[in-house]
Amino acid sequence: MLQQTRAEVVVPYYRRFLRAFPTVQALATASEQDVLRAWAGLGYYARARNLLRAAREVVRRGAFPATAAEWRRLPGVGQYTAAAVASIAFGQDELALDSNVLRVGLRLVGLKASPAEAAARRAVEAALRAILPAGRAGDFNQALMDLGATVCLPRAPRCEACPVRDWCRAYHRGLADRLPLRRLAPPRPHRRFVAALVRDERGRVLLVRQPSGGLWGGLWTLPYVPGTSWRQARPALERLVGVPLHRDHLELTFRHTFTHFHATFRVVGARTRKVPGGGRFASPNRPTLPLPAPVAQLLRRLPSGAESSSGR
Ligand code: SF4
Repeated sequence: MLQQTRAEVVVPYYRRFLRAFPTVQALATASEQDVLRAWAGLGYYARARNLLRAAREVVRRGAFPATAAEWRRLPGVGQYTAAAVASIAFGQDELALDSNVLRVGLRLVGLKASPAEAAARRAVEAALRAILPAGRAGDFNQALMDLGATVCLPRAPRCEACPVRDWCRAYHRGLADRLPLRRLAPPRPHRRFVAALVRDERGRVLLVRQPSGGLWGGLWTLPYVPGTSWRQARPALERLVGVPLHRDHLELTFRHTFTHFHATFRVVGARTRKVPGGGRFASPNRPTLPLPAPVAQLLRRLPSGAESSSGR
């Protein structure tokens, strides 16, 4: 859960998740839909699917892996997670190098480089491995993580309170708050989509399940396709839901920022006289299907009832 998400956001989700799936066996036997529902709101749903696949693999093997190399064979486990778990939980002499530890390392070594440079990363890795205390790598890694989270902060490092100040080259050279060098992130592109808001006579909303691997893969959303106008998007939307759609008056805009782009969804009210072949109708206020958090919020703020009206 902590991959990509801050700890204070994760805590309530983590507690709920452990109540729902208290053991690796409980998780391994859960359905993907149940796991996605428990994850809903955290985003980056590939993590939830990987966690489920990893739990099934652990149960199939009969035990958790112990070494970093074995951990890396589980879905969703990269070099950092494998090293962190192997060192903290299994006492292996592994260095866990995430972006915070890399920043601390670049300052300690005093390298005028960006964390994105592979050579700089290799240099930090070599320097930290050289001082990794055998048998205490878990403590060493956690100390560096804590240092990065509480003292050696990205923008304003608190050198006056730092326990490793004496050994820090960046501090001694007066470079602490100028390192690491920053690279400007490329601007996020903007993509536009048209979504259909189709309601049945009970006011329930038509949702479709997103294919695995796409945006919000495996979760349920309003049917949407790339495009800017209803006229342009309608044929693809009709193919998606399997019935002809007729526009009504409702129209609103919904924006969301994904990791790599900003998205604007033009949500257009639509009616159909037939039963849609794709998707399911769900109550907008209490949908029982796993929805991405922004879609759940959108449904909650829809005008109520089967009859829709204009609005933003
Ligand atoms: S002395 Fe300053 S720059 Fe160096 S590790 Fe400590 S907080 Fe970071």
